[in-house]
Amino acid sequence: MTQVFSGNASFLNNENDLILVLGHGQLARMMYLGATQLGLNIIAVNADSRECVNPVDKTVLDLSIEQAFEYCIAITSEFEHLPKDLVQQAEATNKFRPGAKAISAGADRIVEKELLDSLGVANCPHRIVRSTQDLARAYTELGPKLILKTSREGYDGYGQWRIFSLDELQDICNELQEFDFDHMPLVAEQCVNFEREISLLGVTDIDGKHDYYPLTENHHGAGQLVLSLAPAPNSDKELQRQAQEIHDKIAEALNYTGVLAIELFQMGDKLLVNEIAPRVHNSGHWTQQGCAASQFENHIRAIAGLPLGSTKPQHLVAMVNYVGEPKPNNDILKLANTHLHWYDKAVRAKRKMGHINLVADSVQELQSLISKVHDLLPESLQTNLAKIKD
Ligand code: ATP
Ligand code: MG
Repeated sequence: MTQVFSGNASFLNNENDLILVLGHGQLARMMYLGATQLGLNIIAVNADSRECVNPVDKTVLDLSIEQAFEYCIAITSEFEHLPKDLVQQAEATNKFRPGAKAISAGADRIVEKELLDSLGVANCPHRIVRSTQDLARAYTELGPKLILKTSREGYDGYGQWRIFSLDELQDICNELQEFDFDHMPLVAEQCVNFEREISLLGVTDIDGKHDYYPLTENHHGAGQLVLSLAPAPNSDKELQRQAQEIHDKIAEALNYTGVLAIELFQMGDKLLVNEIAPRVHNSGHWTQQGCAASQFENHIRAIAGLPLGSTKPQHLVAMVNYVGEPKPNNDILKLANTHLHWYDKAVRAKRKMGHINLVADSVQELQSLISKVHDLLPESLQTNLAKIKD
């Protein structure tokens, strides 16, 4: 490449393998870590300011987003709640993977439900709510327990209301008297009595060939993922097959390239899709230590048109989210087979600050490690781990 970039972006002149990630949080940072070993350059875009930044230390680079769009070999995103014009700008380059259609299905629960229904993929019984009358009707038809969700901008359990009684329905209808339903339609879902939550992380290469990580079992606290176990205990080949079939239908409908996460509710031997995420996903963080190629590396390989790395599990992993607490002291690092991933963000309640992957080769070994780590964690995180301790 001839001299195009200057200042702190001049390192890009030596390469022609720039990948752009829309969003500059921990997922962009971990994609960078997964890609850098392949000799690829990753630059993140601050979706609000539209500045190009270093995905690790967030330094603003001497590079305009237009230059980056022009010279990159691929564009991807770390989250789906992106400004529409930015998505359109990325789509217009023909380098955006997985692309605008997939982003829209992940960002808007109404588009997502329509997609699932059109593909005959089982999901939670639901109604679109555009007025308090719609909500009352949905309660009659799907109640007595509903979860009401904003159609857009919801994540980590934000933008949700639980409606478990007629009194609560009344309270929420009162609360929503002034709500602008035209701007933000809602989706009322039947609260499903599932046995457990699992997810499938699949990856599709540039020629449309799919591969899959094994199912992951997920545990939530306050609507937010707190813990994943992988490969999911007690999951047989048939469950994995069902999840893969769902994955393929969705990936093919979206003409997908890259990692696609599917959050599922397990009810006996049946699976219901909760939601999809058109990107790398928190429930796939275990792959950093559990597989030869992590979800981050494989997403980058896929969108860069490279052959995929192995998705086969090599170990058992428990992934613990470090939520709303400052960095732990080094005692955790003293434990063998415990891997801390820290995102270097300012501490805030409910904020994902980092995660710890606990790695073992047998269930007993994993349980023993979980007990040791449990005792070193702050109380708020111990509660989450207690769910699987012994
Ligand atoms: P995240 O960003 O963590 O994926 P989110 O804000 O997008 O969360 P959902 O995944 O829709 O929201 O819901 C969060 C959690 O709430 C689910 O993982 C599940 O535990 C619970 N939940 C959501 N919908 C239902 C439902 N219809 N029935 C029962 N539980 C539900
Ligand atoms: Mg979810």
